[in-house]
Amino acid sequence: MEEQTMKRVMNFYPGPSALPLETLEQAQRELLDWGGTGMSVLEISHRSKEYSAVHQEAIELLRGLYGIPRNFHILLLQGGASLQFAMIPMNLLGEGDAADYIVTGRFSNNAYKTAKTLKEVHLAVSTEAEGKYFRIPKQDEIHIVKGSVYCHLTSNNTIFGTQWREFPDIEGVPIVADMSSDIFSRRIDFSGIGLIYAGAQKNLGPAGVTVVLIRDDLVKRALPSLPDILSYRTLVEKNSLYNTPCCFCVYMMRNMLKWVEKKGGLDFIEAQNKKKAEILYTLIDENSPFFLSRVEKESRSDMNITFNLTDDTLEARFIEDAASEGIIGIKGHRSVGGIRISIYNSHGVEDIERVADFMRRFANKHG
Ligand SMILES: *Cc1c(COP(=O)(O)O)cnc(C)c1O
Repeated sequence: MEEQTMKRVMNFYPGPSALPLETLEQAQRELLDWGGTGMSVLEISHRSKEYSAVHQEAIELLRGLYGIPRNFHILLLQGGASLQFAMIPMNLLGEGDAADYIVTGRFSNNAYKTAKTLKEVHLAVSTEAEGKYFRIPKQDEIHIVKGSVYCHLTSNNTIFGTQWREFPDIEGVPIVADMSSDIFSRRIDFSGIGLIYAGAQKNLGPAGVTVVLIRDDLVKRALPSLPDILSYRTLVEKNSLYNTPCCFCVYMMRNMLKWVEKKGGLDFIEAQNKKKAEILYTLIDENSPFFLSRVEKESRSDMNITFNLTDDTLEARFIEDAASEGIIGIKGHRSVGGIRISIYNSHGVEDIERVADFMRRFANKHG
């Protein structure tokens, strides 16, 4: 039989997205006999000591590497970020309570619309313009209702490629942030935060586990009338083991966090992410208007680099030529068009330099 040679491409899909090769190889090595158990992690009880150790290790690595304060609980749930759109208002808003929503993209609009079907919520600001969102609002555009329980925002807008540089000051109202596409990509200040949630499939691991970081006082606030499976109170009490977690996903996330630790922790990741975004934005600006960034400069995302080719008839060619060099997953979201290069934690600077080199050659040839 002919031996298959492995061909790994550079995968820039917006999510699920590339994982570090080492974490996949570890899973491959351990798949049939995990740690001498004679079983796969896919086959083992979630109450076993082997799985419990991985579950706890993932939580502790996340706390240590991300600097999560002690008054935050760490939950590893299922249902994706989208279930959190519903769980947050269900848990935190009682009779007569209000919350604010900042809408800066498709996902934050989904979060807002979902909350509206359940509770009384208020739009603090939207940056929508002709169905698109190319900027983050200024502090003085945000209008919070008096006595608001929380203010929801999306820290990185995956589809449009915008990102908050830092969290706004919401006058003491706790921020609830959907950080699905920039969690663990840089250090953050937890002081104004009440709750963070993120599907793991962009920066932390595979799809199937959702990280929720929730401040103690908000857990205490959780309404008592909810079914256990939807209650932050129960999920915290049971350490996310109320029911069966996605064991394999948590195991992969643990592998990913160990990989980050070995690489030099969050400081390494943050520096690398900054450098990667800088390489691509510099190249786009130097080759403007051949490449055209529609995002307001101060609102640019370090995670999802979006741009158009001014001659849009070249876009299909661009995607095709990129694919022939092993650069995959860069077609912009259908609602925006253009190109989107998602450069999450797994990508090293070398990958981005290869993309930049391809883009430069393409611009020289067709510009
Ligand atoms: C990908 C993404 C989501 C959707 O997450 P699911 O886990 O599929 O529910 C939500 N919000 C943001 C910002 C995202 O990037």
